[in-house]
Amino acid sequence: MNVLNYERDAVAVHNGELTYSDITNNILHEIDKKRALNAFLHVHADALHMAEQADAKTHETSLLHGMTIAIKDNISVKGMPMTCASKMLEHFQPMYDATVIERLKAHGSVILGKANMDEFAMGSSGETSYFGPTDHPLFSGYVPGGSSSGSAVAVAARLCHASLGSDTGGSVRQPAAFCGIFGFKPSYGRISRYGLTAFASSLDQIGIFSGDILTMSRVFDAISGHDHHDSTSAHIPATNAYSILKNHHLELSELTLAILPDEELSGLDSEVKRIYDQTIHSLKTAGVRFIHASIPGSKAWIPTYYILATAEASSNLARFDGVRYGWRDNTLTGDMTSATRSSGFGKEVQRRIMLGTYVLSSGYYEAYYLKAQKARRAISDGYTSIFSKADAMLLPTTAGLPFKRGEKKDPLEMYLSDYFTVSSNIAGIPSISFPAGYSAQGLPIGMQLQTSLMDDERLLSITQAISQYIST
Ligand code: GLN
Repeated sequence: MNVLNYERDAVAVHNGELTYSDITNNILHEIDKKRALNAFLHVHADALHMAEQADAKTHETSLLHGMTIAIKDNISVKGMPMTCASKMLEHFQPMYDATVIERLKAHGSVILGKANMDEFAMGSSGETSYFGPTDHPLFSGYVPGGSSSGSAVAVAARLCHASLGSDTGGSVRQPAAFCGIFGFKPSYGRISRYGLTAFASSLDQIGIFSGDILTMSRVFDAISGHDHHDSTSAHIPATNAYSILKNHHLELSELTLAILPDEELSGLDSEVKRIYDQTIHSLKTAGVRFIHASIPGSKAWIPTYYILATAEASSNLARFDGVRYGWRDNTLTGDMTSATRSSGFGKEVQRRIMLGTYVLSSGYYEAYYLKAQKARRAISDGYTSIFSKADAMLLPTTAGLPFKRGEKKDPLEMYLSDYFTVSSNIAGIPSISFPAGYSAQGLPIGMQLQTSLMDDERLLSITQAISQYIST
């Protein structure tokens, strides 16, 4: 994909060929020209001013100096609306910066605005936004993936250097694959969730989109590290992935990768399978060793995810009651709370709340929620055993190709499209989607790498080595 490259732009600024204000100005014009993509819900009025500040301080070297970044609209930025793409929060403005935003600002980045998404991050296609669907950057009328649809499209359509999304069951990796860019979900606890609107707190993780791994590492290093505002944030310092990538070369011949046995790939689209096989074949010629491994309970991945995610969502979304936040429906007589929730939430969000309430209700708790917790343990143990034998696991990001808008009408069919992404959220491990090829029609196809908990820097190094090799 022909995307913006921060390293190249920073060199051009350093050589006096460009300024950060020029770059931001161009981008703001492009955002306006490409409004039909519906990638942005809000453009930051102060973006150019932030770029001018970066220009005024060119002698400073900070990780993200002048880097333009778009933010998924479920992350709190002071002074900007935060709608979560829902009518429920249409006029809501948070009063504080999420920890990731504080850190982006401290490292000199230019915040461009808020990116479109599936309502409350529930979806896999970018179609459930109250403010209309996000279009695919290459094939108009196709979905760009979701739920972080706008964040992925903004990078792929050259409307920013990098963007933030959130990944509860694949919402960063899946749209990255559909748009032909990199999408990274770090280990659970590696990036503070303070200021991220909770969907399913035990699975949610803020993730990063970019067109290359160096830019991604810069953003990761800037925003990772312990945060006392988030009790689930890991007590480890910020990463130093960028300097590792710059100073150490990883030899592909030293790598062992685990791959899925063919019987677990039966539902795969033939074009995705072709790219999976091609990736394996080309890495074999580079000396990578492969072992076959299946993660136990793969049939339970989707049910486990949808039980845990909806259970947590039903409790997290209880706060939207028409009293404390946003929209209030006073038009109906009777119960104001249920009127507000019925008219403020879209269909998919209501479906999840009902499902979550059901699996948590007495009598069903043991049958569903408790079982899902046990399956979660088995999936995590399965990964631990794989990573005792292999450095990383290589698997497709999605089973299918980007599809036409409106094509998947059955919610169950949509849920099944998360098959390959949910297990790493269930286990909390880091995973990344990288662009691996195209279908005959030219639709992007992504592959995924996963590794052990807190091995994020190594995952980025492995991805860099692999993606550079296969693109040559
Ligand atoms: N597509 C999944 C879902 O709808 C994942 C969403 C996400 O990661 N936020 O729940």
